[in-house]
Amino acid sequence: MKPAHFQSMKYPMPEKKITNFQTIVIQFENAAERLKLEPYMRKILRTPFREIAVQLPVVMDDGRIEVFTGYRVQHNGARGPYKGGLRYHPDVDLDEVRGLAILMTWKTALMNLPFGGGKGGVQCDPHKMSPRELEQLTRKFTARIGLVLGPYRDILAPDLNTDEQVMAWIFDEYSSRHGYTPSIVTGKPISLGGSIGRKEATGRGIVYIIQEVLKDLEIDIKTTTAVIQGFGNVGSYTAQFLYEAGVKILAVSGRDGGIYNPSGLNIPDLIRYVQNHRSVATYPYGDPITNKELLKLECDLLIPAAVGGVITKEDNVLDLKAKIVVEAANCPTTPIADKILQEREIPVIPDILANAGGVVVSYFEWVQNLQQFRWDLDHINRELQAHLIKAYREVRSLAEQEKVTLRTAAHMIAMGRVAEAERIRGH
Ligand code: NAD
Repeated sequence: MKPAHFQSMKYPMPEKKITNFQTIVIQFENAAERLKLEPYMRKILRTPFREIAVQLPVVMDDGRIEVFTGYRVQHNGARGPYKGGLRYHPDVDLDEVRGLAILMTWKTALMNLPFGGGKGGVQCDPHKMSPRELEQLTRKFTARIGLVLGPYRDILAPDLNTDEQVMAWIFDEYSSRHGYTPSIVTGKPISLGGSIGRKEATGRGIVYIIQEVLKDLEIDIKTTTAVIQGFGNVGSYTAQFLYEAGVKILAVSGRDGGIYNPSGLNIPDLIRYVQNHRSVATYPYGDPITNKELLKLECDLLIPAAVGGVITKEDNVLDLKAKIVVEAANCPTTPIADKILQEREIPVIPDILANAGGVVVSYFEWVQNLQQFRWDLDHINRELQAHLIKAYREVRSLAEQEKVTLRTAAHMIAMGRVAEAERIRGH
């Protein structure tokens, strides 16, 4: 797989801090240009169907009332109900949620799922909140956006700092008003109708895609090394499945820093350690490393699996020593950095392809909830692998045919499908 030709980017690319939304708009415009989309269609595809901001007063444990702001953006529903995660983070704002909602539309379309794209977020620091405060916040958010949710309208899922407990509260709050509705959220606990295999699906999917990419490049996975930023749901499962496939994991990190061991980390032991100590940075079998240094380590696979905007021109892209970048996080690479990676012939497996395993198994969970029937893990993993490999092959072959990057090809396929649905619906 030769990196695709460099295409000219005519769009403003600020050198300073660029938001996820700006990154997503630039990626959109590049693909729209290639698809020769009409101006009206670009407007339809770029603007969200509906954006909601809600006030969320929560009685904190010390008796104060703290007022948070929550957002839900429903970007495009031409191909099915809005689908997308809910994140809790201090940096959440409408701009970020809007950008991530757009990305979800492309992700579900690329995977050919009968969903549109949406995203939610609450601006808060969940690490400074008690479980009771988080529960109140989640219930209030669910109640205040409840009118625009529904199994055939908008379905939530976990994202940064939200987990199956948060999904259980959403399910419970929604069901208390509308009757038993497990299909209102995915990523639920299995005891409440969650799907086997959903929790680890994003990490598992990343590894299925990596295996396919390495096959194409004729590289034996057992000879490869990886560096992973982020050791939450996505990062830790990616590490686990890569480790099981024989990859040497040189370094991983969390918010408070990372750990580096050139002989390779023992991932099962590290996972056990993190369960007890809540941090990778203090793990004793390796040297401490900062998040900044970690991204510049020499490795075959560099896997950002934490937050957006971490591979940038200013910080690191010229010093990256990885052979392949796999975008496990959403929007980890700024557009200028993306262009430089292209010039440096370092392939990037784009987020909407690499991390789509989560939404694919979310789809399976939704289907199982609607059918009131359970699939087994083998069935789920087989279907997941089939969906991802099919999408990867489509992306790869369009990239070769059009001489564009995997990212532009992925966007072209996804946006083409959404545009087609819009046209057939009468727009
Ligand atoms: P998570 O909250 O479970 O884990 C996040 C990890 O990133 C933690 O280890 C945290 O310590 C670390 N982190 C947070 N801020 C950081 C920073 N500034 N620098 C370095 N590390 C930092 O979240 P997750 O569900 O694993 O999601 C991670 C990324 O993957 C996000 O970008 C999310 O949008 C994306 N994603 C998640 C899913 C999913 O199914 N959970 C699916 C697709 C994409």
